[in-house]
Amino acid sequence: MPSLSADWALLETGWVARPLISHERGTITGIGAGRAADHVAGALLPGIPSLHSHAFQRSFAGRTEFAGGGGDFWSWREAMYRAAEAVEPDTLAPVAAYLGMRLLEGGFTSLVEFHYLQNQRDGTPYAHRPAMAEAVVEGAEQAGIGLTLLFGIYQTGDFGGAPLQGGQVRFRTSPDAALAMLQHARAGEGEALRFGLAPHSLRAVPAASLTEAANGLAAIDASAPIHLHAAEQRAEVTACLAAYGTSPVAWLLDRAPVGPSWCLIHCTHMTDAERGALARSNAVAGLCPTTEGNLGDGIFTMPAFVGAGGRFGVGTDSHVGLDAFAELRLLEYSQRLHARKRNVLAGQTGHTGRTLWQAAASGGAQAAARPVGALRVGCRADLVVIEPAPEVAGMKPDFWLDAAIFAASPAPARHVMAGGQWLVRDGRHVRRRAITAAYERALARMKV
Ligand SMILES: [Zn+2]
Repeated sequence: MPSLSADWALLETGWVARPLISHERGTITGIGAGRAADHVAGALLPGIPSLHSHAFQRSFAGRTEFAGGGGDFWSWREAMYRAAEAVEPDTLAPVAAYLGMRLLEGGFTSLVEFHYLQNQRDGTPYAHRPAMAEAVVEGAEQAGIGLTLLFGIYQTGDFGGAPLQGGQVRFRTSPDAALAMLQHARAGEGEALRFGLAPHSLRAVPAASLTEAANGLAAIDASAPIHLHAAEQRAEVTACLAAYGTSPVAWLLDRAPVGPSWCLIHCTHMTDAERGALARSNAVAGLCPTTEGNLGDGIFTMPAFVGAGGRFGVGTDSHVGLDAFAELRLLEYSQRLHARKRNVLAGQTGHTGRTLWQAAASGGAQAAARPVGALRVGCRADLVVIEPAPEVAGMKPDFWLDAAIFAASPAPARHVMAGGQWLVRDGRHVRRRAITAAYERALARMKV
């Protein structure tokens, strides 16, 4: 049985010295103490999931950071629709492989793909309807990153049943069609692959369709995940107030069976009452700090949410950032800038790095609905190795993790294992050259 050892490991109960971890077929089978032939210097962390992704959006990362590249979310969205026009299954697979590779190098060992780009360019479904979803699965498998793929539902261009416009026709999918694809895909589920649903938002999914989707999913698999975008932009909240007389988060908590298998993405603009109610629902808040910063969405107010027991994880969403450590740094820094205080999220462990990492691992695992996010028997052997920066060498490993997140350590994820395989060694994915070359060829074909 394969095993590995290290200097330290971060278990759910805290740090343990000289951990010896056994694993079989990608799953942790034992945790003890000792030294294995496969010994790594440094500390083992559980790999964390990126709980929100639109893989194709990596293809135009870095191309909208100029005055003509979109002055707000809505003009950026036009650029995103142009990128969506350019991708096909044979280019999406290498894009997803490259994304998975870079996320692994950044310390993410699972990906949750919120998959709404499902039709051909003219809006008709592919002859083999899940062709685009299967391209994402293929890419994730090439990279070796665990995947939860959520079939999108997208029917209207705005509240009130507005028709789809332009590029949105590629997203058109009914609850029936999404549930049929999910039902078909489930035959391929395994330890590294799970499926669920993603009704896009209340803008894109009428109330009756959301009910149909939630009921349909519960009938197939009551524990399967369901994710929606909610309250990312103030304009969306205003439009929802006009259409439904209430805000998106309040409407969902009131009218939909929101619970532990749900993940509401962004939730940037909430009232205090909504924050408390979302926390009590046991759903996960899917925060995407770098993308939300890039798009100028606003700041999610953490202290009241976390204080009420709220669960959260982080996603890389548009993939302008691909580094788990950087996402957590920005999450904490946004709170500091807002509250004009330090160590806002230090929480019960007393170390901001550990509190953030463990919360994102556990909330991300809940949102991914896969056995990940902890170094525990029965979980996937997904782990990240960090080494101490020179400034904190000789100090306890909580400082190693704080420094990896907050002290600008270059490529903090030294080695990364997913599903029992060492996929990143010395900061580089083992198939980096081939995956990058295929990605560059795909971008040239897409001409984005
Ligand atoms: Zn999104």
